[in-house]
Amino acid sequence: MSPQRHRLARLLFDEYIEMYAARDTRLLDRFSENFSGFAGSSDLLVKTRAEWVRTTQQDFAQVPERIGIEVLEVFPQELGADVLAVTAFFHIHLPQPDPVFARETARLVLVFRQEGDDWKIAHSSISIPYGNAPEGEVYPAARLRQHNLELQALVEERTQALAQANERLQVLSHTDALTGLANRRRFDEALEQEWARALRAQTPLALVLLDVDVFKHFNDHYGHLAGDACLQALALALAQTGGCREGDVVARFGGEEFVVLLPSTGPSAAEEVAHRIRQAIAALALPHEGAPWGIVTVSFGVASLVPRRDQAPAELVRRADRALYRAKQGGRNRIELAPE
Ligand code: GH3
Ligand code: MG
Ligand code: MG
Repeated sequence: MSPQRHRLARLLFDEYIEMYAARDTRLLDRFSENFSGFAGSSDLLVKTRAEWVRTTQQDFAQVPERIGIEVLEVFPQELGADVLAVTAFFHIHLPQPDPVFARETARLVLVFRQEGDDWKIAHSSISIPYGNAPEGEVYPAARLRQHNLELQALVEERTQALAQANERLQVLSHTDALTGLANRRRFDEALEQEWARALRAQTPLALVLLDVDVFKHFNDHYGHLAGDACLQALALALAQTGGCREGDVVARFGGEEFVVLLPSTGPSAAEEVAHRIRQAIAALALPHEGAPWGIVTVSFGVASLVPRRDQAPAELVRRADRALYRAKQGGRNRIELAPE
């Protein structure tokens, strides 16, 4: 190929690239009447000039701003006296960031044919494969593998984040916001589970139900926020003394009422737990001016039973509640055990 031809091919190519990058519609005049091509990263076969004009207009309309074409290599070829071909490799930089075009190497083959005094584009074929194959590889397989690994890692990362978020939601949906103890929902689930277990194994299941004494006075006297802080302090003491064994559940039952669910626990052991809690609360000695003892106290109802098939889990709560009622009636700040 003569140096002149080489220069001409390069000139025709540069002119094309400049008009294409600038989205310059004068490019349309450069297409030969006898045109064929591949567009849309080589999957769109175009057989006529009119189709190619339409495709180019679509392309320009989709991205009207100038695009960047970073030419990597250009190979001019002389295919005949009036036919020149140019094969070029480049990266495309769209106005908006696009990791595919900016990273993957595109290939363009342009065929110019002399028609009268002019050189027209008779063929254009764009292809955006997965970049150039490196030394020693026909296909960029190693890079594709790397790409897959990156995608896999990303999917794993997202999946893990999702699992963690679900776990956090699960914990939140089972936690009482004020005290951080298990909430009523969690308690209901645990009671259901432990009841079924105790029914199968015919082991006792115990419940300690406690209610803060004359707490309405506390709120009235110290304010609702102080009331909240008091409940938090009580919850902490409960958590430290109530659920000592695996399977024990300390929960806020509602308002100023708490429960401790004790699997495999008979009446006397359950009563023992209530005593421990009562002592811990007495040791806090939270001032409560309106209360009979001048400090915050709690009343307890304790129940323990070996579930029978004809009973529902609510039976345990009902018995503890009745015992609690007796504790209140009996003067508060005391523990009552439900009859077996
Ligand atoms: P008793 O000894 O008979 O249990 O008397 P009491 O005043 O504790 O009983 P009552 O059921 O009349 O009042 C319970 C009070 O607990 C009323 C309510 O305002 C208060 N309370 C319930 N939940 C909360 C809470 O989350 N924060 C605060 N500060 N107070 C609460
Ligand atoms: Mg109450
Ligand atoms: Mg109360």
